[in-house]
Amino acid sequence: MRKISTLLGMYFGFALGSQAQQIVQRDPLIATMISEISPDSLRSHIDKLVSFGTRHTLSSVSDPKKGIGAARRWVLSRFNEFAKQSGGRMTATIDSWMLQPDGRRVDKEHEIGNVMATLKGTDPNDDRIFMVSGHIDSRVSNVSNRESDAPGANDDGSGTAAVIELARVMSKYSFPATIIFVAVSGEEQGLLGANHLAERATNEKWNLEALLNNDIMGSNHSPDTRLIDNTKLRVFSEGLSGFETDKRANGIRQYGTENDGKARTLARYVKEIGERYVDNLEIKLIYRNDRYLRGGDHTPFVNRDFAAVRITEMNENFNNQHQDLRTENGTEYGDYAKNMDFEYLRKNTCVNLATLANLAKAPSMPQNVTLEARNLTNTTTLFWQAPKAGKVKGYYVLMRETHWPFWQKKFFTDKNGLTLPYSKDNYFFAVQAVGEEGHESLPVLPRPSMR
Ligand SMILES: [Zn+2]
Repeated sequence: MRKISTLLGMYFGFALGSQAQQIVQRDPLIATMISEISPDSLRSHIDKLVSFGTRHTLSSVSDPKKGIGAARRWVLSRFNEFAKQSGGRMTATIDSWMLQPDGRRVDKEHEIGNVMATLKGTDPNDDRIFMVSGHIDSRVSNVSNRESDAPGANDDGSGTAAVIELARVMSKYSFPATIIFVAVSGEEQGLLGANHLAERATNEKWNLEALLNNDIMGSNHSPDTRLIDNTKLRVFSEGLSGFETDKRANGIRQYGTENDGKARTLARYVKEIGERYVDNLEIKLIYRNDRYLRGGDHTPFVNRDFAAVRITEMNENFNNQHQDLRTENGTEYGDYAKNMDFEYLRKNTCVNLATLANLAKAPSMPQNVTLEARNLTNTTTLFWQAPKAGKVKGYYVLMRETHWPFWQKKFFTDKNGLTLPYSKDNYFFAVQAVGEEGHESLPVLPRPSMR
């Protein structure tokens, strides 16, 4: 029998508050980065974004002060400024192309572009990419209105400001893996920028292990329910992957893994790591890809088999989203910065930072993770191989009840296999690599081995 260390005091999150004993080990460097995310800085990014009047995807690309072109160039200039403190590791660009009329939300040819900053990883053997996104474009009531002011402070100035702020802070630090910060365009016209980027990631075979898409995350109140709360954040994730679901259906049905797709696994990771580093915030896992009547930039990635989730505030204020600026019956409509909570936006930005930093500092995922399924046993044996990149201290085997939302136990081992006195029939398992400083890779669900 192999030696097993069990971390009984592993971190369970607020939802399991009865677990009194919690050992939360924060990496002091990540905690320092977190402390550098500033609500004032986030507010200044948003005020600047709002100053472009509209950031409608089809607004002017040439006007020096108004429209999406000026907004994109400003984000690029910020990224280039941050790049100076990166020792040559950060580069920034606008990935632009020409939109063709589609007879729906695009009426004529128009230039579109995603503003990207790439913080190159320091390990030449590590090709992993982690990406964080917000959409720079904004809109009013009519999706084709490219003239009227559309401040888009929260939708999605909040996500874009988070991306800028993360680039500002993280560019000063180095990570073995690469992090891409991106302000995408064309979300409101049909996820155009995200589709382009997801297609590019597929064609260029990026080893993109996670995308955190931030869209509407800086306002804390809902007028219809009169809720005001800045202590909860939603992470939307799909349980199944939208990629070749039909081909995978038999295995999913047989092993009951409909709740363990890549996005859901990532969402659990965001919850654990986000709550580890950000105080007074509960991360709510929402078991669906997105909200009713709405879409988001993570979906083109989910559909291409990347792990991607949507991060969104708990209580949305629909009076402020996609609205012409006006007052009606005493109610003011419009997506203004004055309606936002910058301390809440700070916390939500920090969830992104904690997740990205922990992932980019961790080794890559263990390879060929298998669960021994040849014999009828009441124990569980797992095997795996070392990850491709990164130094490994050991591995966590994660375990949870089949009906439980989060991982409940972690077993640490420095070996490449483990036998546990729990039946494989009664629990779900996964394995994550643990780096020398304790950073965990994304978990990998085992493939049953019949040999
Ligand atoms: Zn949006």
